Amino acid sequence: MELNNTEAGQWQVAEKIYEGKAKQIYTTNDPDLVIIRYKDDATAYNGIKRAQIENKGILNNKISSIVYQKLEQAGVKTHFVQQLNDREQLCRRKNVIPLEFIARNIAAGSMARRLGLDEGHVLSVPIYEICYKNDRLGDPVINESHAVALGLSTFLELTEAMEMLRLINEILINLFANLGITLVDFKVEFGRLDDGSLILADELSPDTCRLWDSETLERLDKDRFRRDLGRVGEAYEEILKRLS
Ligand code: UDP
Repeated sequence: MELNNTEAGQWQVAEKIYEGKAKQIYTTNDPDLVIIRYKDDATAYNGIKRAQIENKGILNNKISSIVYQKLEQAGVKTHFVQQLNDREQLCRRKNVIPLEFIARNIAAGSMARRLGLDEGHVLSVPIYEICYKNDRLGDPVINESHAVALGLSTFLELTEAMEMLRLINEILINLFANLGITLVDFKVEFGRLDDGSLILADELSPDTCRLWDSETLERLDKDRFRRDLGRVGEAYEEILKRLS
């Protein structure tokens, strides 16, 4: 049995089943539900750069909870059940597919470098990418046939995931545009329930989205940490303030 440091209320924490760079996952007394706890740890460049950003876990928990509620209201099936407290969410238990699905509306980061595009170049159509989630290999970009040949998914499942990714991108572009924020790109993951259906999983926060102020183009996301731009916490707070 693990700790007792959660205020999860009626859901009893059973054991820690996962600890990643930014989150911990605990089983509960309900086998279909887990508690996700957001930490203040920040990492970049595959774990090479590390720091603690005070209250980042609280901000990301609140931001991701709001975004997930908006997606659920728009009809996207997700793992989100409810925000429990400052750092914890109750979520459905699922098998996470070891793929990262990235949507890009504006060239930035690794893709801008790879394709020789200026950061900020507005793409004529959104670009959707798949990466193989594998720290040892540095999460390489792959395509559908790689994912199927590696036994990670099926063509049918990937078609469904890509449709969900397109819909999520449209919903989030509008959500953030109404707050004066440009959604440059973001990463999501999908989980599989026992009946094989797909749900959106993991967080949607300034750790996983590039968010620029639409007027000033100020970076309001993890690039402030990656690139030592300063005022990281303030940027995350600004995102939460606008979403609230
Ligand atoms: N991203 C993420 N986790 C990853 C890789 C990327 O959340 O392991 C997000 C990142 O924050 C950005 C988008 O996915 O919003 C595209 O990231 P990119 O491939 O440009 O990678 P980076 O420049 O961070 O290396």
